[in-house]
Amino acid sequence: MAIQTIHKAFKFRIYPNGKQRELFSMGFGCSRFVFNHFLRRRIDQYATTGKCLTYHDTAAELVTLKKNPATEWLKEVNSQSLQQSLRNLDTAYNNFFNKRAEFPSFKKKQGHQSFQVPQHFSLEGTKLTIPKMAPIRIMVHRPLEGKPKQVTISKNAAGEYYASILCDVVKQKPEYKGAEIGIDLGLSSFLITSSGEKVDPGNHYRAAEKKLAKLQRRLSKKKKGSKNRIKAKSVVAKHHLKISNQRTDFQNRLSLRLVHENQVIHTEDLAVKNMVKNHNLAKSISDAGWSEFLCQLEYKGSWYGCHINKVDRFFPSSKRCSYCGYVMAKLPLHIRSWICLECNTRHDRDINAANNILIFGRAGAARSSASAQKACGDASGGGTKPSRKTKSRSTSQASMKQEARLLAAE
Ligand SMILES: [Zn+2]
Repeated sequence: MAIQTIHKAFKFRIYPNGKQRELFSMGFGCSRFVFNHFLRRRIDQYATTGKCLTYHDTAAELVTLKKNPATEWLKEVNSQSLQQSLRNLDTAYNNFFNKRAEFPSFKKKQGHQSFQVPQHFSLEGTKLTIPKMAPIRIMVHRPLEGKPKQVTISKNAAGEYYASILCDVVKQKPEYKGAEIGIDLGLSSFLITSSGEKVDPGNHYRAAEKKLAKLQRRLSKKKKGSKNRIKAKSVVAKHHLKISNQRTDFQNRLSLRLVHENQVIHTEDLAVKNMVKNHNLAKSISDAGWSEFLCQLEYKGSWYGCHINKVDRFFPSSKRCSYCGYVMAKLPLHIRSWICLECNTRHDRDINAANNILIFGRAGAARSSASAQKACGDASGGGTKPSRKTKSRSTSQASMKQEARLLAAE
């Protein structure tokens, strides 16, 4: 059977002593300095000459920088970590140029900090060894798989330290088996499948929101610069962290189960960022962490044998009857179930939307394979875009009729 190599990260809590925390802090600082310094250099170079600096240009400049008396303290940390910082900057630029990410931003002194160790590290029992440091106590709660390639040392806003070990894992290419479903990412449920399953939001943020508000109120009353304020700040950060850990755990379990049960999952290609700008929906959407979830589905799908097909989101997934194709003129958010005017099918709003995603996903997949064969694409998108009709008297009459019908279906 064919094999493939995948990257898998294993994240463990580490417990550095005082001296090690000091060295870490230097490592974070130097990596951040290098990243920011060369981001500034790249921006300025482009502004003055219209040319971009490459990774090799910046690596050569780094050598000079380390010889400069003003910045020779850079020599005190692992040189490979600094080079890795330059590589990260280069990757950030490439991601920007390839429209995968926004323009790189300067790293801040507050909040999450990290640096990488690309070589010369080892893990033995409860000891992690990296260059220029005594062995660090590590809590290995699950066995590593594959060949370790790189370690990332990080500190979160709550002041906890972690080592994330990236490994190359060789495994058999997965077998694609199981069902084919469409999923709709919802607000009242976290997601809804075309097979009729509604998964609870796991919206821990909401449940803990009151507590967070209380903690933040308490923080705001503390005097600036006082010890009590620092203490209260760390309590707030810890609470945030707890919520985000619960959310990650929920999403991990769910995405793993879905890719095991299915061989194809059709989903909307969400422009989540644009949706977040809508203030009413903003909270639920960012809470639910859909984009993070879709990302998990994609990489787990590639490990365990499930294709994730993203469907153009610009089609009326909620308003279209998945049985006959009739499109309702209106379907306000509070309407949870409705009856199709054309074929009298009773629909649950969300399950119907998931069914439409399945239908459009299948059609899109068929179309793209057909157009690949014919080597000519259908640029119009095959009618997946909603028709924006101008409002005439007849449509407003129809929508009145529809509203009456919606109320009857509730
Ligand atoms: Zn219908």
